[in-house]
Amino acid sequence: MSNPRVIFLGTGGSAGTPLIGGADGGGDWGECDPAEPRNRRSRPSIVIQAPDGRRLLVDTGPDLRSQLIACNIPKIDALLYTHSHADHVAGLDEVRILNRLIDRPLPAYASAACWAELKLRFDYAFRAWTGQGFFRPVFATEEIQPGETLEILGMQVRVIGLDHGYTKSLGLRIGNFAYCTDVVRMDEAALSALEGLDIFVVDCFTRHDAHPTHANLEQVRNWVTRLQPKRTILTHLGPSMDYAWMSENLPANIEPAFDGQVIHAAG
Ligand SMILES: [Zn+2]
Repeated sequence: MSNPRVIFLGTGGSAGTPLIGGADGGGDWGECDPAEPRNRRSRPSIVIQAPDGRRLLVDTGPDLRSQLIACNIPKIDALLYTHSHADHVAGLDEVRILNRLIDRPLPAYASAACWAELKLRFDYAFRAWTGQGFFRPVFATEEIQPGETLEILGMQVRVIGLDHGYTKSLGLRIGNFAYCTDVVRMDEAALSALEGLDIFVVDCFTRHDAHPTHANLEQVRNWVTRLQPKRTILTHLGPSMDYAWMSENLPANIEPAFDGQVIHAAG
């Protein structure tokens, strides 16, 4: 029995890096060096590959199609949404291709609020399935809520409620691995659910001033001090988060993620 593997499909902020724009139209890189390939970041998402080889996708961002192809991921067996912001859901239509690959509705987990929002924005994706072909996404929906632990693809997944500023998002913990994208504050329930981690993947949008909806580097350092994870990996990285700057200035137990990175979820 091997440990779960985690593949980072995307590690950027809501607009990716570079952002659309730039003096020559080739992208606005902010403080990131365009010559460093690990500074090119698509929208945040991961795949968790269970010990039996089945795969849990976390979020369907607008870059989903190119991310799955770039990471050589041939199919997905279940899906979990952290929240309904566009950078986490706008690739939802690609689920019809994921349906074709498994030839059935895709088991999918989200909060009640997230499902309600998705049903408003993507109403066509929630019409009753005729059972013949997949011309639009078809989900087998499950509601989840903070504090519960459920089994997904044979893995025990603990659901963690996160404060995302004007809304809430969900983090998840499997064994001593946790993924907490899109968070600006954590309450005691969240913090106590994140104790004793080997790997803590966490939102760090900026190295500068506090942001209303995302953690900055100072906030992440405070969480690391409290939680003492063995290894902290930063994601949802904004245009101030230059890879070389982070490599030189972060302590040894905190590192930036990059698109396409693969890690073992234990140890
Ligand atoms: Zn968000």
